Amino acid sequence: MQRSYWDAHFHIPRRGQEDLSVFLSRCEAEGLTHFFAGGYDPADWQRQLTLKLSFQGKLKNSFGLHPWWIADNPDKSKEAIQLLAEMLPQADALGECGLDYFYIEKLAGNKGPIDKDYLKALQFELFAEQLELAQKYQKPAVLHIVKALEPALKAIDETKCQVTQTCDLLNRDPKVKYRIAPERYENPPNSTAELATATLKSSKRNDVLGIVHSCPAKREWIYEFQRRGLLVSFGPSILKKSRLELAAALKEVNPARMLVETDFSGEGLGDYDPKTLFRVAKAAGSALGLSEEEVLGYSAQALESLFSKKSIQ
Ligand SMILES: [Zn+2]
Repeated sequence: MQRSYWDAHFHIPRRGQEDLSVFLSRCEAEGLTHFFAGGYDPADWQRQLTLKLSFQGKLKNSFGLHPWWIADNPDKSKEAIQLLAEMLPQADALGECGLDYFYIEKLAGNKGPIDKDYLKALQFELFAEQLELAQKYQKPAVLHIVKALEPALKAIDETKCQVTQTCDLLNRDPKVKYRIAPERYENPPNSTAELATATLKSSKRNDVLGIVHSCPAKREWIYEFQRRGLLVSFGPSILKKSRLELAAALKEVNPARMLVETDFSGEGLGDYDPKTLFRVAKAAGSALGLSEEEVLGYSAQALESLFSKKSIQ
């Protein structure tokens, strides 16, 4: 089988250009061929545009205002969101957007007195606005949520997105639904692979609102996001968990709606290690009884369908 895997989330470094061809062939040697960049701020969107051609169709780009950037630049954010609305047609996705209350608490610790409530409210407002923009321009959204599950779900539910109406995907097939509410179903799937196959057959691109990147390996989070039509993407943070902890946490996950990422944000592409992606896939796979290749294959399939606007078949 030809390998053509995706890194579901990484960042273009400030000095990414110099070693791009070396970077691409280094990754290709491992079977990693496609990349989905997370967006941070207007300067980053520009970097993505500059580099996109050089990636020869192997880069999907994403423009958004990261919740860290909003907390660091509250005065610039209104202007930036206008620019985002203008530039979004040039992106494949909207993001990162979201809420990071941990970051705001950290800022308060480092910078001294700041208006935490104001920053949280601002992150929320801009998150909701970005979700609306994603809907308006029909772009998948890339979500960054840390220590803010409840308000994040509120923002998602309040956004009148097509997905919240159609995210019943997981309800159409009892076998698929099993992962979400096992106690309610008499005929659980025989295997994780069977569950994934059932999901792939019944999926349409429009069932997916977007991606929760670096999703914590927590059952409740996975359950809430997947039932809202979001793909959950796991990064290196899951490597800190034991296989047993991970197996318990991933009990609700539907592997056909699961991605893997490096969450790379280094200084230069020279620091990028493609093996990180394989380590994450291996950890997730061993918790689910899947091989590393199966996890990477499902992840690639989910991303390809997200961008192809066709049904996953
Ligand atoms: Zn990111």
